[in-house]
Amino acid sequence: MTAKEIRQAFLDFFASKGHQIVPSAPIVVKNDPTLMFTNAGMNQFKDLFLGEAPIKYPRVADTQRCLRVSGKHNDLEEVGIDTYHHTMFEMLGNWSFGDYFKKEAIEWSWELLTEVYKLDKERLYVTIFEGDEKEGLAKDQEAYDLWLQFVPKERILTGNKKDNFWEMGETGPCGPCSEIHFDSRSNEERAKINGATLVNADDPQVIEIWNNVFMEFNRLKDGSLKKLPAQHVDTGMGFERLVRVIQGKTSNYDSDVFTPMIEFISKSAGVAYNADAQPGDQDWGQAVTMRVMADHIRAIAFAIADGQLPSNNKAGYVIRRILRRAIRYAYQYLGFKEPFMNKLVPLLAAQFKGVFDELIAQQDFVQKVILEEENAFLRTLENGIIRFEKYIQENKGTVMNGPFAFELYDTFGFPIDLTELMAREKGLSVDMEGFAVELEKQKTRSRAATAIDTEDWVIVSEGEEVEFLGYDDWEAKAKILKYRKV
Ligand code: ATP
Ligand code: MG
Ligand code: MG
Ligand code: MG
Repeated sequence: MTAKEIRQAFLDFFASKGHQIVPSAPIVVKNDPTLMFTNAGMNQFKDLFLGEAPIKYPRVADTQRCLRVSGKHNDLEEVGIDTYHHTMFEMLGNWSFGDYFKKEAIEWSWELLTEVYKLDKERLYVTIFEGDEKEGLAKDQEAYDLWLQFVPKERILTGNKKDNFWEMGETGPCGPCSEIHFDSRSNEERAKINGATLVNADDPQVIEIWNNVFMEFNRLKDGSLKKLPAQHVDTGMGFERLVRVIQGKTSNYDSDVFTPMIEFISKSAGVAYNADAQPGDQDWGQAVTMRVMADHIRAIAFAIADGQLPSNNKAGYVIRRILRRAIRYAYQYLGFKEPFMNKLVPLLAAQFKGVFDELIAQQDFVQKVILEEENAFLRTLENGIIRFEKYIQENKGTVMNGPFAFELYDTFGFPIDLTELMAREKGLSVDMEGFAVELEKQKTRSRAATAIDTEDWVIVSEGEEVEFLGYDDWEAKAKILKYRKV
């Protein structure tokens, strides 16, 4: 099955079970102070769970574009190093709002995975909530018994509150969850460990693909749990991971979600992609770079298409940082000295045609924004790298000093996480406190400057009486004349 067919099969399957198929919400969240980017399929249904919005359809399903690069879920550092965490990914989901519960959710997920997608049953592991004495919560026996219809007990693992009890926040709907993991290791390796007790934390070839959350409680302000009047189901399955396991690959980047992009990058760079490169190998950096580029362009392009331009603060800076991260990788490991990331946009837009048409509609604009960003950063990147290399040569020790990290940030536009990454490649850490001190000093300087701007110095309209106080900046005197109202 192709990626396209796999996505469609998910939606068709849940439509056949009475679900309304709804569109993805934008990746950029504009009206929620607790969230910058959509990081799960349930985000757009938050108000329904809270009882603050009417339930139009009791059963829905969709594919939601998600971004996990900030806040509680930040997978950025994993991307390209491992083969299954992305910045932007699609989360396939099905929901029940006060309608079906554990039985249907579990039975349907098994039916879909084994009968429609025909995954090898022997390679599927599941987890259930083990209970929590302090909360007065029992083991999720119901989920356990339901799974036992399909999965031998050796492959039903119990997990604690951290892994198997989902909460939306400090207060609000919550409940136990049940995850499904897939083991892609070779038969020989599987024979060696003799089944059992293994989830993705232990082996990168055993990955979580689907999480089923059973919302049955409401966490109150005093911390206590109250049974909800209605029970809900909230599920999320990583589309790229699903495609990888169905297509029998051991890396998401070897599935057809990513191969066209990797091939294009590899051809343009004139460097072969070695999917098997290991840390320490000569071509490791190049392989990571191709994965990072193929991944990051998705986050950047969709964020821009959904209305978040790169900028110097908040969500805009998150996007700028991701782009600069990709540009530095491309420059240093593949020799892309000219803007290149923007050229990936048409390929991406074509890939998502009929799925997320937002990108096709804004393709030219998105490409132009990325090109401008690339031009700007490439102007300082080379000198920044030279400066960085010189520092490495001249300084011994294992910690890069804060003022130097700040110089890279301030003069060359290196986001601090980029400096940390580059330092890490050289076996150094960065003195983050020292960096923060420099940054604070700069903020104080610019706060002082804006305070003057807003209190004493005002733009005057015609006819107002003013006293001329001189030029704000001698160099730019033609443009910035400052007056004070009298
Ligand atoms: P993991 O433990 O692998 O980090 P998670 O438990 O954080 O995953 P959930 O919050 O349960 O993930 O999200 C539901 C599903 O979304 C996961 O089962 C997984 O398939 C997928 N997923 C989560 N994070 C990512 C990511 N960064 N890239 C791709 N898919 C992801
Ligand atoms: Mg995670
Ligand atoms: Mg997990
Ligand atoms: Mg999970």
